Amino acid sequence: MKTKTLKKNKVNVITLGCSKNIVDSEVLMGQLRANHFEVEHESSNDDAAVVIINTCGFIDNAKQESIDTILKFSAAKQNGKIDKLYVTGCLSERYKPELEKEIPHVDAYFGTRDLPRILKTLKADYKQELLGERLLTTPNHSAYFKISEGCDRPCSFCAIPLMRGKHVSVPVEDLVKQAGQLAKNGTKELMIIAQDSTYYGLDLYKERKLAYLLERLSEVEGIDWLRLHYAFPSGFPADVLDVIKHNQKVCNYLDMPLQHISDNMLKSMRRGTTKQKTIDLVNMIRDKVPNIAIRTTLIAGYPGETEKDHEEMAEWVSNSRFDRLGIFTYSHEDNTHAFSLIDNVPAKVKQKRADHIMSIQQQISKELNEEKIGKTFKVLFDKKEGDYFVGRTEQDSAEVDNEVLVDAKTNYVRVGDFADIEITGAEDYDLFGVRADKQ
Ligand code: SF4
Repeated sequence: MKTKTLKKNKVNVITLGCSKNIVDSEVLMGQLRANHFEVEHESSNDDAAVVIINTCGFIDNAKQESIDTILKFSAAKQNGKIDKLYVTGCLSERYKPELEKEIPHVDAYFGTRDLPRILKTLKADYKQELLGERLLTTPNHSAYFKISEGCDRPCSFCAIPLMRGKHVSVPVEDLVKQAGQLAKNGTKELMIIAQDSTYYGLDLYKERKLAYLLERLSEVEGIDWLRLHYAFPSGFPADVLDVIKHNQKVCNYLDMPLQHISDNMLKSMRRGTTKQKTIDLVNMIRDKVPNIAIRTTLIAGYPGETEKDHEEMAEWVSNSRFDRLGIFTYSHEDNTHAFSLIDNVPAKVKQKRADHIMSIQQQISKELNEEKIGKTFKVLFDKKEGDYFVGRTEQDSAEVDNEVLVDAKTNYVRVGDFADIEITGAEDYDLFGVRADKQ
């Protein structure tokens, strides 16, 4: 009942979850291509004989999306639309025995560190010499750049250490080499990611080396922007701020998930910090780097969160005026420390609290955007969408932050290039502008 001639050496890779999973898929695809496989990412061509799903096992919604995707391709396999189905990534790492029992039509389940085994199963060789070589799934000019794997932090709500293991830094020289290869292929922006980027080097060099790494990466020819994500508040290496301030290539941008602000919640979450330390840290960051844009992520409805805790967070969000902010509703994850607590905040209340925080942030984002009208910013253009060229300032990361829209009928910019844009209009999460050099 085959509908299309399937290409035996063609692999369709499906990526779910976070930017770290995207990098893992890109590395896998780089290895497959080097082994003469035809490789596609999330293709709808339906002619690939082999499908590999790189799953996410982070929280409820993400887990459900991964399971639905496996079931979809399991059905496709049973209908002869694909020959082989393999599953890897965090959900598979975390629930392999259960998945093998529940969804048996998958040819094999792999963990998060099984690249050589996946390749062996496909009769391909793991090519060590390809270190870091990837098949980018992002626009060529901008790439996620994973500097370490795993995490040593004890955050009570988090299942990531269960799926990604202990913190392992990638050596500086390997990262510099990887950055050089990406730059050679036209990448200009590196979005630096990890589970905890500020922990970089502590395992390998017995000292925090993130500032040094940023300096080294900024010397790589062709790389114009280095953007820092996933900083951790406690033990924050202040020398990183000096690099952000003085090194033109390091964006005035910092993504630092803070999760909550009430001492009651921070203690139960085992975040290793307090309300006052968090406020002092944010103030110190802004004092040291005045134009920095801070992105943070919070959790609503953690076990034991009272209305008072929530109001405390709402007031703090109002006062802190973060440039970018996202919030998750708490997900009761088995085998985490918090799983021993009672998940006593009803789902409706979790969502109501999350919506409340985002309504505060929406107003703040609009006001901060309006302050940009009349100013000129260096913008990296990612795509053309409808009537607009769409780009980002150094204060906006891909996929999660604001965008700058430039009318394509009256302005010309090259996708993948920078241009100076004068801001002429603002909305909650978008800016509008014209070329500043427009005659
Ligand atoms: S820092 Fe905390 S929240 Fe982040 S991955 Fe590690 S344990 Fe999870």
